[in-house]
Amino acid sequence: MAYQALYRKWRPRTFDDVVGQEAITDTLKNSLIRGKVSHAFLFAGPRGTGKTSCAKIFAKALNCLNLQEGEPCNECSNCLAADQGAMPDIIEMDAASNNSVDEIRDLLDKVHYAPTEGKYKVYIIDEVHMLSISAFNALLKTLEEPPASVVFILATTELQKVPATIISRTQRYNFKRFSNEAMVQRMEYILGQEGVEYEDKALKVIAQVADGGMRDALSILDQLLSFEKSSVRYEDALEVTGFAAQEQVEKLLLALLNGDSQMALDLAKSAIQDGASAQNILNEIISLTVQAMLFTKTGQGEFLTDDFAQEIAQQSPDRFSQIIDQANDALGSLRFTNQQQIPLEVFLVQASQKRQNSQAGPQVVSAASNPAIERQIKVLKEQVHQLTQQVQQLSQRPSQAF
Ligand SMILES: [Zn+2]
Repeated sequence: MAYQALYRKWRPRTFDDVVGQEAITDTLKNSLIRGKVSHAFLFAGPRGTGKTSCAKIFAKALNCLNLQEGEPCNECSNCLAADQGAMPDIIEMDAASNNSVDEIRDLLDKVHYAPTEGKYKVYIIDEVHMLSISAFNALLKTLEEPPASVVFILATTELQKVPATIISRTQRYNFKRFSNEAMVQRMEYILGQEGVEYEDKALKVIAQVADGGMRDALSILDQLLSFEKSSVRYEDALEVTGFAAQEQVEKLLLALLNGDSQMALDLAKSAIQDGASAQNILNEIISLTVQAMLFTKTGQGEFLTDDFAQEIAQQSPDRFSQIIDQANDALGSLRFTNQQQIPLEVFLVQASQKRQNSQAGPQVVSAASNPAIERQIKVLKEQVHQLTQQVQQLSQRPSQAF
């Protein structure tokens, strides 16, 4: 049997299958249970956050002959037809490829015909922001006087490009990026069902790289399974995503915080040899430093290195801000050079030196390794000793001024 992409194979078929968008799926289920359904919905949010999946489930549930507490039964003839894309009352259109006014008019001409198989005629218009102005106007006219049994579900990744007149006619739902936990949970479920072994660390890396988009996470899994079919390994996940290992970035940040520039340079060198780019490394350092800063304030965060949390808990928030600023400067310099490694190395040296500057002052630990400072401290101690003796002598003398 041909390999079927996980994203297609595991597209959710019920609202309960949609992980991480409970606020939206619960509201949609309730409106179905109460039988109070608006004429137009707008699903807005980043790609891969479940907009199209929810639109398909909602359209199916609207026409299900045996609704189960707001969920489609997935067994009746309408549900089965909808799952196969063969339900005549569910009309899907991708505005990215069909955006002319003629195409929208064709679609809207048939809006007044009653549904043939189900209760509602449902129009799903994906990437609705791509419609031309005249196409939007034609759509607006229909939304202003919607026929009784028609429901529009408009989906967009770019809400700011949808005219306000359209937005105001719809019930809007904002789809959020999935949390890393929700993505890991979904990947664990799918891999468990597929009988595929995986390393927890690999799933964490994938969730981090996919940045809240389930579709991206599952495509990375697809890639991994296509070259190593039996398991999902951490090393492979790093290779496919082109990321420096998070552990390596954690060690790098610790080296900076501890003022160990040599260690930082060595770690960066080996990450680059493993295929990471200077830009990626800087971005990963920024993202990890932000997480570290949040951790010191809220106590929440997950890290791969065992003692990472204890080490960063002792740092001052200023240190984190300094590193973020310096890394941002280095990212800026990258644009003006072909030698990508130089701004990275300058950053690593500067960011690890900052510690000595910010903690300047007589410090026994650093003095031990610096003879000049040691001599200076000796002189200062001598002076303090003499001054103390003088003060003592003065205070012991009887007052003779008056
Ligand atoms: Zn059904």
